[in-house]
Amino acid sequence: MTTPGNLFILSAPSGAGKSSLIKALLSQESARPMQVSVSHTTRAPRPGENNAEHYHFINVEQFQKQIKQNEFYEYAEVFGNYYGTSASAIDKQLAQGIDVFLDIDWQGAKQVRIKQPSVTTIFISPPSKAELEDRLKKRGQDSEATIKSRMAQAKAECSHYTEFDYIIVNNDFSQALSELTTIVNNQRLRCQQQAITHQVMFDELLKG
Ligand code: 5GP
Repeated sequence: MTTPGNLFILSAPSGAGKSSLIKALLSQESARPMQVSVSHTTRAPRPGENNAEHYHFINVEQFQKQIKQNEFYEYAEVFGNYYGTSASAIDKQLAQGIDVFLDIDWQGAKQVRIKQPSVTTIFISPPSKAELEDRLKKRGQDSEATIKSRMAQAKAECSHYTEFDYIIVNNDFSQALSELTTIVNNQRLRCQQQAITHQVMFDELLKG
């Protein structure tokens, strides 16, 4: 029997280093397969972003149609655009025993917590406002006005930090990655999960 995959949510303000952490986590050796869910969005692709790899880029009409057809596990409006997680895609991955990571905002996290209370939610925080602003400027992707608005949005995202199971302060990248790996491993070692994975072993230990 395949042990169902674990569902993780990672939320963070833009510039906290969430994408780099997820990428580094997925490139490590792992006891279980891991995948990041590819969301649907109505925002335009940024330079270097590919359809179906970074997001499924769709228009507002298509997104609204998919809302009506109940195709989203969760969805939210973020920065004036729609973002949503496909229910069928993650159900399939979890059933195959894949650990799935959702890179979604606090509104999405709130919806998933209600649907699946066993979800593990992680908030990635920048170490300070000054450091966050510095990182956003160094990325060189945004204008001064966009950085200002991202800082305001970061404050809004950070105001929900107490709603998460875990908090990682991304000051030192390798420490943050090690903390993220620990959280993922903790979840995999929980009794409910281990009992299914090692069912044959426990049956043998308890025989006779
Ligand atoms: P960006 O446009 O910078 O890629 O993402 C903007 C925000 O939308 C980020 O906070 C990201 O976590 C969030 N986001 C991305 N995909 C989803 C999704 O499927 N659902 C929700 N609720 N938020 C998402």
